[in-house]
Amino acid sequence: MKEVKCEHCKKWTDGTVKECQHCGGVLNAKYLAEKEELEKVETVMKFPLIEIDEDDPILIKMGKYVIRAGQVVFFAIVTFVAYLAAGTVG
Ligand SMILES: [Zn+2]
Repeated sequence: MKEVKCEHCKKWTDGTVKECQHCGGVLNAKYLAEKEELEKVETVMKFPLIEIDEDDPILIKMGKYVIRAGQVVFFAIVTFVAYLAAGTVG
């Protein structure tokens, strides 16, 4: 059993469960929030797609969809090239 110190009641508790056995407080809440935030940032960095506004005129919307399709193709190519480069270097 991995013991961790509860950040809420400062008692040692089972670190393999999500909640403190003594006070019921969520363990590693800060760590989990940070991890979630990191994952969000990573997703955005991978696909910084153009925003399509619901209020945009139909022509602007169509134009943005075309740009978005181009972006998806572009990122697919970049990812593929990066994958190839990583393969040859490694
Ligand atoms: Zn506790």
